[in-house]
Amino acid sequence: MKSSWPLLALFIVGCTPSTEVVEGSSSTAAVNAEAPYVWGNKTFPKSIGLSNSFNSDEKIAMTQMGAAWSTSVSARDPFFSFSNLSNNNYNLERNDGILGIYRVDDWNESFTPNDQIAPIAITQLFGRRYNTGSANEYVSIEHADILINYDDFSFSSEQDPLQKDPVEYDLHTVVLHEMGHFLGLSHIPVYSLRPNSESLSSRSNYKASSVMYPSIDFSEIKRVPKSKDTTVLNSKYSLSGLAASAIAVESPYKPNAKDLGKNVKVVIELMSNGECHHKMDGVTIGHHSIKLN
Ligand SMILES: [Zn+2]
Repeated sequence: MKSSWPLLALFIVGCTPSTEVVEGSSSTAAVNAEAPYVWGNKTFPKSIGLSNSFNSDEKIAMTQMGAAWSTSVSARDPFFSFSNLSNNNYNLERNDGILGIYRVDDWNESFTPNDQIAPIAITQLFGRRYNTGSANEYVSIEHADILINYDDFSFSSEQDPLQKDPVEYDLHTVVLHEMGHFLGLSHIPVYSLRPNSESLSSRSNYKASSVMYPSIDFSEIKRVPKSKDTTVLNSKYSLSGLAASAIAVESPYKPNAKDLGKNVKVVIELMSNGECHHKMDGVTIGHHSIKLN
């Protein structure tokens, strides 16, 4: 545990900073931090390894949340299949070829440089950014991992949320949110920043319409994807009962001519302080804060 990280303000899980490292990029075009993420290989299920550092209840919770994503959309192959890893060997530097969910008991500053406080969890995405500076800019995901910070935070894997300790986060809720990032989902905007087209009557209704709202609190239990989540998921993967080959043809995510893309690593952090930092090469390229409930 990093002693300088305050542990006082843990009642709210805040916004999602995005740390991006562009490797070997010579492009000077500005990166759009809001550009969509989408798996390049749309063959599912993705096989996820569950670290041997999780106990059986925790693994059950993760498997249930994977199934929740799969059953949230129209008939299709499941998004995930799960297996047990014989180790907890996460790799923060590169695509190691093993999609994994890992438990971190010694959260290190090097995971998320320049952050003042530790995130609850991160999803790291490795892929290629295409069409930088264009309206159709996107990141093609090639690899993803989820790391959960058990060093600074506590999680409950109870099936019955009523059995949860009041100062624990619901593991189901955190994992469902991170799996959304794994699939390429971003956050829905905070209520005050919602698009004009959104006419929902209240903040609570708005927040309840997605599991990708950028803040949760200890008491929040969201174990089923919501309408906004499945709408985005369906559009991202053209899930209309199409065969995989047809999905590939119809995908709007295509490189512009001669664009070979740039390798990128994106880290999406679930924070506890309500702040959102977008970083590239360790430099903040965007920042905003949200009002904590
Ligand atoms: Zn998030």
